Amino acid sequence: MAANPYDAIVVGARCAGSPTAMLLARKGYKVLVLDRATFPSDTISTHLIHPPGIAALRRWGLLERLVATGCPAVDTYAFDFGPFTITGSPGHDDAPVAYAPRRTVLDKLLVDAASGAGAEVREGFIVDDVLVEDGRVAGIRGHGKDGKQVTERARVTIGADGLRSLVARAVKAERYNEKPRLLCGYYSYWSGLPMHGRFETYVRPDRGFAAWPTHDGLTLVIGGWPFAEFAANKQDIEGNYLKMFALAPPFADRIGVARREARVVGMAVPNFFRKPFGPGWALVGDAGYNKDFITAQGIQDAFRDSELCAAALDQTLSGCRSFDAAMGEYQSTRDEHVLPMYEFTCGLATLAPPPPELQRLLAAVHGNQGAMDGFARVNAGVTSPADFFGAENVARISAAAAG
Ligand SMILES: Cc1cc2nc3c(=O)[nH]c(=O)nc-3n(C[C@H](O)[C@H](O)[C@H](O)COP(=O)(O)OP(=O)(O)OC[C@H]3O[C@@H](n4cnc5c(N)ncnc54)[C@H](O)[C@@H]3O)c2cc1C
Repeated sequence: MAANPYDAIVVGARCAGSPTAMLLARKGYKVLVLDRATFPSDTISTHLIHPPGIAALRRWGLLERLVATGCPAVDTYAFDFGPFTITGSPGHDDAPVAYAPRRTVLDKLLVDAASGAGAEVREGFIVDDVLVEDGRVAGIRGHGKDGKQVTERARVTIGADGLRSLVARAVKAERYNEKPRLLCGYYSYWSGLPMHGRFETYVRPDRGFAAWPTHDGLTLVIGGWPFAEFAANKQDIEGNYLKMFALAPPFADRIGVARREARVVGMAVPNFFRKPFGPGWALVGDAGYNKDFITAQGIQDAFRDSELCAAALDQTLSGCRSFDAAMGEYQSTRDEHVLPMYEFTCGLATLAPPPPELQRLLAAVHGNQGAMDGFARVNAGVTSPADFFGAENVARISAAAAG
């Protein structure tokens, strides 16, 4: 047997793992993907994918398959601040809409795409440890359902194994830009709550909640409170979740005649970056960069990382570029792209009232359709917060409001 039967082993087969495996397999590499889960299966996520994530699915030839599952498109984002609502379009002509496919559907589609591209997918396989030889990661050790210990070797081992990544812990990947858990978010699925293609979010003091449509005529409704209230509210999460809606009476009326179809689930997550590469290993998706879910960036971030990481690995596996140079560029491109959104997301996740300056700006945005679209696109990850909240754009919006 060759020393490295695989070019790449990918641990985790959801939003980051399957696309990375698919893209490498499409380049002709021999790829093994492992996941302890079997598919289709659910995971904790409210699964809204903004237009940039949808554009990735289209580039990969997977969007038609998603649309064929009957998932409704979301073409309007509405931000209700109480005194006024900012309503805008989240995308541009090339990628105008969002979708919120159930993870049972999305992740299965991604796993099938990886396997369709030629990657070997092993479901129900737990990775117990990474294999280290001569100071570099050389593969993994793990076991399938029969419990038999298996060792697999590869030129690179990729952790796409989520927030609590075993690969990241095993290699002691450096963490930076860390922030604590800021928000507790809980969600459920409702029938009889039609959304007509709208994502709606309600911003109230120390509370925020939002609703959008998904498969099977259901609407996902998520709400949350600051992490500081975790201990006080944990005995009655459901009661606190249901109580929030009274803060927006028209929404309370609508949900009051709807029917809850699932239990309320959720969590709070820490915020951090991890160095996403080292000798023989790489990280993609939540394993390498995790942030609060209030801006729903995780899936499109995982898709973007998959493309950046697979392209960098192709450069190095094909011998065109050194591993450190190619992967260093992957890290810096990722970090530069996401840093303004990371700060914006962490700010929103505190659920603190917007400072007076921002309140004035939001009031000026309201009613100016171009600016409202711009605000919707910031939240969709289409426009960088650095551009939208930059002095030039703020002056333009303020001038339009003044006159
Ligand atoms: C409450 C909540 C709501 C969210 N809402 C949104 C949203 O609306 N939109 C959005 O874009 N993002 C959202 N996110 C974030 C999004 O879910 C994640 O960013 C996304 O799932 C990351 O994908 P991933 O592939 O990196 O990791 P994951 O989806 O966590 O997948 C990791 C996989 O690795 C496997 N794995 C882990 N360890 C091992 C092991 N040792 N052996 C074998 N397999 C292993 C797991 O079984 C799992 O299948 C939300 C997150 C939370 C917590």
